[in-house]
Amino acid sequence: MTETTTKTVAILGGGPVGLAAAAHALERGMEPVVLEAGPDVAHAVRQWGHVRMFSPWEYNVDRAAERLLDAVGWNKPQPDQYPTGAELVEQYLESLATRTVLKDRIRTSSRVTSVGRVGFDKVKTKGRQAAPFEIRYQNGKGPETLSADAVIDSTGTWFAPSPAGAGGLPAIGEGEARVQAHVAYGMPDVLGRDRARYAGKSVAVLGAGHSAIGTLIDLARLKDQAPATEIYWLLRGDTPEKAFGGGANDKLAARGALGAAFAVLVAAGKIRVEKGFRVSHLSRDGERLRVGAGSACCGRYVTVEELVVATGLRPQLDFLREIRLALDPALECPPALAPLIDPNEHSCGTVRPHGARELAQPEPGFYFAGIKSYGRAPTFLMLTGYEQVRSITAEITGDHEAARKVELVLPETGVCSGPGPLATSGSGCEVPAATAPTGGCCAPAAPQKAAKPQACCG
Ligand SMILES: Cc1cc2nc3c(=O)[nH]c(=O)nc-3n(C[C@H](O)[C@H](O)[C@H](O)COP(=O)(O)OP(=O)(O)OC[C@H]3O[C@@H](n4cnc5c(N)ncnc54)[C@H](O)[C@@H]3O)c2cc1C
Repeated sequence: MTETTTKTVAILGGGPVGLAAAAHALERGMEPVVLEAGPDVAHAVRQWGHVRMFSPWEYNVDRAAERLLDAVGWNKPQPDQYPTGAELVEQYLESLATRTVLKDRIRTSSRVTSVGRVGFDKVKTKGRQAAPFEIRYQNGKGPETLSADAVIDSTGTWFAPSPAGAGGLPAIGEGEARVQAHVAYGMPDVLGRDRARYAGKSVAVLGAGHSAIGTLIDLARLKDQAPATEIYWLLRGDTPEKAFGGGANDKLAARGALGAAFAVLVAAGKIRVEKGFRVSHLSRDGERLRVGAGSACCGRYVTVEELVVATGLRPQLDFLREIRLALDPALECPPALAPLIDPNEHSCGTVRPHGARELAQPEPGFYFAGIKSYGRAPTFLMLTGYEQVRSITAEITGDHEAARKVELVLPETGVCSGPGPLATSGSGCEVPAATAPTGGCCAPAAPQKAAKPQACCG
């Protein structure tokens, strides 16, 4: 039996999964309100707009969102084509947010700063469940408050990158302004917007997931145009081959191609590989940046002009301090989800179906969804998020049967199978494929000797 009262559901974050949640909530007769921190929806996706996605359109569009778009005469993109992040926004998310009935339910430039329950601090139990949620947010005009019956937190992880330090703590010196000026996190657009910063420079990329690999491939293309560009790949693990991925076995073909293209570049010596490089210190060395591994005095180091850190992403939990949360101690995701997505155990394609039940929190009516629901696990696919919000919205309306009936078929992959640097230190499977390079950067070149790490103690 489905309850009939209109419920307001606050959806935190207007990324692909947040917007899909709003579409599902509307279909179920609820009133969604999307709060998006950025000036436009999909603010995070816009940051990696230059990256070509590894999943084609058929995996990137939510069904309820599609139904809303169909009603306004949407030209659906070719299902087998691979959009860039920018195309995902232009051809899908932007239309969803501005042309459909969702447009009056999205508040942009609205950063959520705290969530609680009206009249109930975290400790108070009796009657808690019946109290509405209170969501505070900032929209430039001052603090605003929204009251809601349920909350879906789909604020993503893009704006909380992991630091360079090998142990998960920032490297010594990482926070200093002189250092920060030469460190970028995530995936800078080295061939476009950020070209001037990297062309002809020595650049180290730290990480072994798809973000790192995509950036390294783009840097190799940049080197074709600006031959003075020097590229270092710093990886914590000892087996670079793991980053070459599933190749032809990856059912997401673009992702397999990325790994294969990368293997060619490494074999050709276009990218200098520093394996077992566990960053501990960052400091300025004249005009250059000294990236050290081991002790400050006697460890290995490389000196470069720029460092790109792609060591993974984390969920931001500070604004949920008054919400009763249960999180897996390692992954920072809902505990029931952890065994399904643990990158120590699973490949992307072996994540079992899951929905409201696995995503539930001790706080009734509060759910994580989208990439944030995976905490630090690098195995998220958009399709998974769409299924999550279908199930969650069914559960919120009391349609427990539909919520339970989770049907999720994911493409298998050999890319992040099992433990290793790809699974543990990189942005991993959730992250992208740059367009597999077609130019000269993939052509075998005369092998180069990998640069010997320098060490002050010989
Ligand atoms: C480079 C890259 C490529 C990827 N390629 C693929 C792919 O090919 N296929 C695939 O299936 N998956 C891919 N992913 C993984 C994943 O599907 C995407 O990260 C996707 O954008 C996740 O959607 P989301 O809605 O959960 O989060 P996000 O897209 O990160 O959206 C979260 C939103 O919340 C907003 N926000 C953050 N904090 C607040 C706050 N306090 N208050 C209000 N709003 C806030 C952000 O501005 C953002 O717009 C990729 C990820 C990356 C990083």
